[in-house]
Amino acid sequence: PRSRSSADSSDAFKVAIRVRPLIARERKTGAQMFWSCDTKQIFQLGADGKQLGLGHFFDRVFDHEETTQDVYDEIAQPIIESVMEGYNGTIFAYGQTSSGKTYTMMGDGKTEGIIPYAIDDMFHYIDQHPDREYLFRVSFMEIYNEAVSDLLAVKDAKPGGLQIREHLEGGVYVANLEEKLVRSKDEVLEWMKKGEKRRHVAGTNMNERSSRSHTIFRVIIESREQGAKDDAVNVSQLNLVDLAGSERASQTGAEGQRLKESGAINQSLLTLSNVIRKLSECPPEGAYIAYRDSKLTRILQMSLGGNSKTAVICAVTPAEEEQTKSTLQFATTSK
Ligand code: ADP
Ligand code: MG
Repeated sequence: PRSRSSADSSDAFKVAIRVRPLIARERKTGAQMFWSCDTKQIFQLGADGKQLGLGHFFDRVFDHEETTQDVYDEIAQPIIESVMEGYNGTIFAYGQTSSGKTYTMMGDGKTEGIIPYAIDDMFHYIDQHPDREYLFRVSFMEIYNEAVSDLLAVKDAKPGGLQIREHLEGGVYVANLEEKLVRSKDEVLEWMKKGEKRRHVAGTNMNERSSRSHTIFRVIIESREQGAKDDAVNVSQLNLVDLAGSERASQTGAEGQRLKESGAINQSLLTLSNVIRKLSECPPEGAYIAYRDSKLTRILQMSLGGNSKTAVICAVTPAEEEQTKSTLQFATTSK
């Protein structure tokens, strides 16, 4: 991929923190708030409620009163716009289990998430650009223990999962991954829900399973000028990634299957952090970037770096001290 110019690097890559409110379970047990924030910084609070040490700075820190709409408008919307203009884009949700990744990405049934907001905007964009024809397709995959499965397929893939292949011209793709043509927001949301459900079926318990796997919800956008020939088609993709619970990476005392899981998660989150850090340094063309060290980065290779836009939203639980520290560590090293 081409290296981006330093002038637009801040625009091309953003790291945001989202602190959720205490949830009922935490309020019931009188959980302490360990963190406080102020638009661009988050700082730790001591037992006396006073600030401890220096704040950590990020492109944006959203507090517990800010909505998913706020996060969408500032962090996601510029990426959606760029995707509609023909560039690739990726939005990650990182954080420990129960920190708000899925709430932020998909919503919780009552509140909409970034995916529904994005789809709304994409159809709105089409209405405003009658000079172009657009075609949307969606795919939804899960990566569990470094095996890729198709959440929209009727049948399960063979053990070992779907294969990642490379086109001769250099593009990376997941072989046999289903792509569903979608014509309305409702159709997109239907596939999103179907895929989420399939993710549950595969595991014993939804939260258990979702904390151990990454999902990539992808929208492929094809467009061309009205009446233009087929070879003038512009293709771009938007990847919305709900990462495995970050606490799984450092799980101590794990054995057997759990050890294998935490090893795979550790490797992929570490590789992601390395890849993102490298890209944010604006490497020269042809510089080595370790995409191949994990399936996640391999699959997203075409949508990270170059002309693409990326955002990492790190979800944080205000009642957690150590886990939040480790999330901020990831967020800082990704910058
Ligand atoms: P994760 O996907 O990171 O495991 P969830 O998105 O499932 O976490 O969130 C855990 C719980 O917290 C859910 O009940 C969810 O509705 C709630 N929650 C998360 N973020 C927020 C928020 N910003 N405002 C209100 N409730 C939230
Ligand atoms: Mg989740």
